[in-house]
Amino acid sequence: MKWCCETFHNRYDAGGRPGLSVIVDRGFDDQPRFYLQGRAIPAGVDVRIDASADVQTVSEFVVDFCPWCGATLRKFYRKTAEELIRPGLKIPIE
Ligand SMILES: [Zn+2]
Repeated sequence: MKWCCETFHNRYDAGGRPGLSVIVDRGFDDQPRFYLQGRAIPAGVDVRIDASADVQTVSEFVVDFCPWCGATLRKFYRKTAEELIRPGLKIPIE
């Protein structure tokens, strides 16, 4: 796998763990999309939080460019994005 930069690679490897990570999954148009995801609790761990406020344990947003090196992600990973998709990490589309 050729990565745009080492930080992107590191954040991709961090997927599913607490902290900031890169997730690749399909968007509304079924094409691979890149997401920056922040997670408080590891993926697959079910924790009940009793709080008076609405608490999000995971959040994410689409990015078109690498936040660290500026690469145009859909262009740079056009041949490899499908391989980068890992089921179960993205917040499901409702
Ligand atoms: Zn990069």
